[in-house]
Amino acid sequence: MNKPEQSYQVAIDGPAAAGKSTIARLLAERLGGFYVNTGDMYRALAWAARQNNIDVDNKPESLAEQLPQWELEYRRQENRSLQLFFNGEPISQEKLRAPAVTAIVSQVARIPQVRQWMLERQRQCKSLGVIIMEGRDIGTVIFPQAKFKFFITASPLERARRRLAQSGEVAADATLAKVAAEIEARDHIDSTRETAPLRAAEDAITLVTDGMTQYQVTDHLAGIIERGLP
Ligand code: C5P
Repeated sequence: MNKPEQSYQVAIDGPAAAGKSTIARLLAERLGGFYVNTGDMYRALAWAARQNNIDVDNKPESLAEQLPQWELEYRRQENRSLQLFFNGEPISQEKLRAPAVTAIVSQVARIPQVRQWMLERQRQCKSLGVIIMEGRDIGTVIFPQAKFKFFITASPLERARRRLAQSGEVAADATLAKVAAEIEARDHIDSTRETAPLRAAEDAITLVTDGMTQYQVTDHLAGIIERGLP
């Protein structure tokens, strides 16, 4: 691989359904960088746990024991996008976003061995050059030295509305109340876990995005980044 001309990391953290993915993707296009979705990496392990009938609630150690046999990596595609591969096979968005996977992903992500396993794999993405990495602990744990750190959030109701509007990510019988409850449960597990909980880094810029479009949020963040670059 050729050495990238430019190299810096943009960390985007925040709670579930805050719009981080769309903003990170738009920012990557605008800055000419790579968008890395770390939530999908945890979702891939949640999917694999289901495939292997692992009870992540009662037997998290069974999943930890599997980790040495599993491989997960982002591979560069022709058009500057990344595709996630699990054990050498591409894994589809349909599998990663299935409601059954969403239902257990936070239980998977709180297992300390899982977080340790992810740490190296996520830090390796630095070699791509400019990366916009989205997750929960990017600014605090994965890249505490990132040049730009943002914490993107929105009110619970706004987030539930946005998630409900994303077809394919919610169950067929989803209601606003059910989606809000699922988001709240996930945020609770994510922010109270012992290892790498969801929180804003002390030096992150927090943005509450209620009433803003994804383009307005992207413009705002891109402006900050462009002013901060040499
Ligand atoms: O971003 P997304 O909602 O797809 O993430 C799914 C889950 O993965 C989160 O609810 C959280 O449990 C976990 N996650 C994490 N740390 C990250 C990214 C995601 O714990 N950096």
